[in-house]
Amino acid sequence: MAFTHNLGFPRIGAKRELKFALESYWKGQSSREELKAVGAQLRQRHWENQAGLDHVPVGDFSFYDQVLDISFTVGNLPERVRGFHGDALDNYFRVARGRSAESAEEHAACCGGVAAGEMTKWFDTNYHYIVPEFSAATEFSLDASRLLEQLAQARSLGVKAKPVLIGPVTYLWLGKAKDDSDRLALLPRLLPVYAALLAELAKQGVEWVQIDEPALVTELDCDWQKAFQTAYTALNTGKVKLLLASYFGQLQDNLPLACQLPVQGLHIDAINARAEVDRVLAQLAADQVLSLGVINGRNIWKTDLSSALDWLEPISRQLGERLWIAPSCSLLHVPVDLDSEQKLDGDIRSWLAFALQKLDELTVLATALNTGRDAVRSELSANQAAIAARCASPRVNNPAVKAALGKIDAALGQRGSVYAQRAAKQAQLLKLPAYPTTTIGSFPQTAEIRQARSQFKSGALDEAGYQAAMQAEIARSVREQEALGLDVLVHGEAERNDMVEYFGEQLDGYAFSQFGWVQSYGSRCVKPPILFGDISRPKAMTVEWIRYAQSLTAKPMKGMLTGPVTILNWSFVRDDQPRSVSCYQLALAIRAEVLDLEKAGVRVIQIDEAALREGLPLRKSQWQEYLNWAVESFRITSNGVRDETQVHTHMCYSEFNDIIKSIADMDADVITIETSRSDMELLDAFDNFNYPNEIGPGVYDIHSPNIPTQEHIVQLMRKAAERIPAERLWVNPDCGLKTRAWAEVIPALTNMVAAAKTLRETA
Ligand code: GLN
Ligand code: ZN
Repeated sequence: MAFTHNLGFPRIGAKRELKFALESYWKGQSSREELKAVGAQLRQRHWENQAGLDHVPVGDFSFYDQVLDISFTVGNLPERVRGFHGDALDNYFRVARGRSAESAEEHAACCGGVAAGEMTKWFDTNYHYIVPEFSAATEFSLDASRLLEQLAQARSLGVKAKPVLIGPVTYLWLGKAKDDSDRLALLPRLLPVYAALLAELAKQGVEWVQIDEPALVTELDCDWQKAFQTAYTALNTGKVKLLLASYFGQLQDNLPLACQLPVQGLHIDAINARAEVDRVLAQLAADQVLSLGVINGRNIWKTDLSSALDWLEPISRQLGERLWIAPSCSLLHVPVDLDSEQKLDGDIRSWLAFALQKLDELTVLATALNTGRDAVRSELSANQAAIAARCASPRVNNPAVKAALGKIDAALGQRGSVYAQRAAKQAQLLKLPAYPTTTIGSFPQTAEIRQARSQFKSGALDEAGYQAAMQAEIARSVREQEALGLDVLVHGEAERNDMVEYFGEQLDGYAFSQFGWVQSYGSRCVKPPILFGDISRPKAMTVEWIRYAQSLTAKPMKGMLTGPVTILNWSFVRDDQPRSVSCYQLALAIRAEVLDLEKAGVRVIQIDEAALREGLPLRKSQWQEYLNWAVESFRITSNGVRDETQVHTHMCYSEFNDIIKSIADMDADVITIETSRSDMELLDAFDNFNYPNEIGPGVYDIHSPNIPTQEHIVQLMRKAAERIPAERLWVNPDCGLKTRAWAEVIPALTNMVAAAKTLRETA
């Protein structure tokens, strides 16, 4: 008898109900009670959705972030939110986003705003959590109210509740000590709070608690490994049973540790770590439960149920009631319901499973294990047919793409000459001044642009009308840039709604959902495009827009593209071939666009790799393998051009210390990066590594409405010139200007151009 459970359910709601409730509450347009009511409804609905499971997660619902929830549960609030008006939820939103709701901020004058907590990526997902803040003085105290309220609601609805918590070691691991103290030293203070919480749950009659320790799939030194031992020895009080959950990867050298911790059950990600399951089985104690995450909680493809059963059946016979099955991780990372997708192509739809469909798959597996495959024969054969159809589909398999991939060799990613020779030819052609100025690509996405786009989508505006509207915007951007006196211009990306979607929509092998929203942070969601098949480019995607923009000016116009690694990292990617293969296919498609731009006379081409760093694997030991194919994909994309064509790339960060060699290997002529906030300190990477090509360290923080002064920009650039020779420096903002208003952009860029002039004159 195998049991089923789920590690967590997407809380945002199939129609993003939580997002809208939160945003209306924050704006002061709805009450606290209304917000709480939406939360309660969503929880109830999601529990009903999971009613067929043997254990249903409780406590996975969050108004903002599950890590911040734990910070509040263990009483770890930053000092700066103390002493405000309002209650815990007000403070919760203050830490999350710098302020509570408008209506709760009537005391803003006396209390002021606060700095929002830092956000960072939750392991290797695109979800961002609020980083817990620690210092040597941090004390903890239990506030179980949020969890107990959710538990009480679940109980009143008859839910088979299994509370879920982030475990104490991962909680410390996720945080940052502001004073550089050792956060592990806080463990003895933290454990009694967890123990008290577990005792409280036991008092409520809870049998199992899921305690998430995904830090177990990362490289841990001795002290962190020991912390696990200490923590679970202390929490093993016999009051509740603990299911220790690891996910997102393999345990590797933490496997023996994980297997001998004194807990009653262990959850393993059997998608990423299937190869480790035999070893886990051999090391588990005779009375321990093993939960296998057999359905991919991170992706949207149907599970091959028959092959999962082939693998599970012997394990089920061996473990009996000690086998639980589940998705590999919380379903937070997938959209809610495929049934909402009425516009999605029928073939592609038949290959997919969102959260609700994944739970159905789980039920089918459990039924087959517990009563035999016959009981679910029709489900299994429908599943098998879908898997086979996807596998054989001509929409997935394009022999021409496969053939092109087979012809890739090192020469494809190689420029004709080394940088110094190219740079000389480019200088002759482009005739740019010292400290050349440019921007990163997008100009403000105005209300008119959005309106034209939505009218075009709804059919109210025809193709010609839309084209004219976009051309008018491009013309405006060019006019403004000429008036500002920028050196290398951009067309402004008016026609792009999103830098990945725009390309995905034009490439074969991509599909788009209507409601496939996934939480990115707080109330923010993204709708990743679905890369389902071999990628090819039916026709040029950007050339006409750039050609039009270039026709309006004698200055060089940059052709703007999104790079293959970024397109890949911001998509749901097919699981039937390595990611590297999909990336190479994207590289060949974007390469063709690069060459078409060059043929059209474009002299400067920028290929954005905003998300290259995001794709780094969790374990450092696997970084190089990723960087090898990521960098090679970029090189294939960019390096087929003539020496005279200047290649730019852009990255939205400047933490380069650990990957700077790979960045240099990309061999772009110019790289623009985000640096303004860090006061150029992030250029430290360049102290130890002599970056060989040109760099534009951002001097305008585009995430802020503030206008940088000319003096400040000059000062930043002088700092940069201490590390990088002035003749290789560019002057540009941190990132695209899409989210800013023209009224901010004009004065900021005026100052930037003036600063460049000062730098030239005083050089
Ligand atoms: N070219 C893009 C823009 O300017 C780059 C955006 C990004 O790096 N995130 O909008
Ligand atoms: Zn950027």
